Amino acid sequence: MIIDLRSDTVTRPTPGMRDAMFSAEVGDDVFGEDPTVKKLEEKCASLLGMEAAVFCPSGTMTNQIGIKILTQPYDEVICYKGAHIYKYEGGGLAGNSNIGTKLLKGDRGRISVEEIAPVIGNINDVHQARTSVVALENTVVREAGSYYTLEQIKKISEFSRSKGMAMHLDGARLFNALTETKENPVEFGKYFDTISICLSKGLGTPVGSVLVCKKELELKARRIRKVFGGGMRQAGFLAAAGIYALDHHIHRLKEDHAKAKTLGNTLQQLPWVKSVMPVDTNIVIFEVADGLTPEKCLASLASHQIKALAFSATEIRLVTHLDFTDDMLQHTVSVFRKMNF
Ligand SMILES: *Cc1c(COP(=O)(O)O)cnc(C)c1O
Repeated sequence: MIIDLRSDTVTRPTPGMRDAMFSAEVGDDVFGEDPTVKKLEEKCASLLGMEAAVFCPSGTMTNQIGIKILTQPYDEVICYKGAHIYKYEGGGLAGNSNIGTKLLKGDRGRISVEEIAPVIGNINDVHQARTSVVALENTVVREAGSYYTLEQIKKISEFSRSKGMAMHLDGARLFNALTETKENPVEFGKYFDTISICLSKGLGTPVGSVLVCKKELELKARRIRKVFGGGMRQAGFLAAAGIYALDHHIHRLKEDHAKAKTLGNTLQQLPWVKSVMPVDTNIVIFEVADGLTPEKCLASLASHQIKALAFSATEIRLVTHLDFTDDMLQHTVSVFRKMNF
């Protein structure tokens, strides 16, 4: 038994999901003829209170398309300094959109109007770049899954739009955030121009992300998806997994959160752990004790069949998910308690 806590992307499709995939009705989606892809896109758009949606192979692609269709070359996007779009997408903002970034510290990655206001470029000054987008991430992966409330988002959105800026949401783990806030996803459409959600993280599909957007952006998004090489043919097999995940895997995310809390609470008491970030959703990030390295720690975990991820020179990340069972949790906690260096 291998316990893989490196990411919530390591899950295998469940029997129910495999059945849904196997029996999916499909067609060539580049010709717009895959009924299951259409169904998934309609479902996501209505779920988030928007008009259109575009199914893509990855969350990196949905983010990169979202930002590209909201910007012109030489523009700037405002985001948290550890944002996935900036830090973990291979420099795509510069390469794909030819734009710069204004990076903010945020409160555990959650940026605010107070931070945004002073960094907006003056459009009337030719020296300055046009700041055209504010991009939020929810939950914030680099900050152990911290999340925004709708009230915080509303403030940022109203302010940003009043300054002529568009709003993008990297909602790779949006449903993890909503599990905690108990807010209605349909409210989110009001505050964003583009929203990226991942089906392959906590929701447990093998592949797929969806860019939800305004109707007037849809054709642009489809064009850029084609340019990026993301036009897929009988993608209904994958979309069927997404529909199944939205129907069956959202309500259980709270179990992942409870398990992450147990891991965090356990780690907090151990001599080989220096500190644990607050555990808000399904991600645990902790610092190893002085004199210890993540690599040494990971090697010890590996000898007990547990996989985790080195997240920096001093930090380790654990992410709970669909395939991390109660038995695995118990085993992991007992290994943590036994380990010493
Ligand atoms: C995983 C993730 C993405 C997208 O990643 P892909 O592996 O390209 O699907 C985007 N944003 C955040 C915050 C993520 O955690």
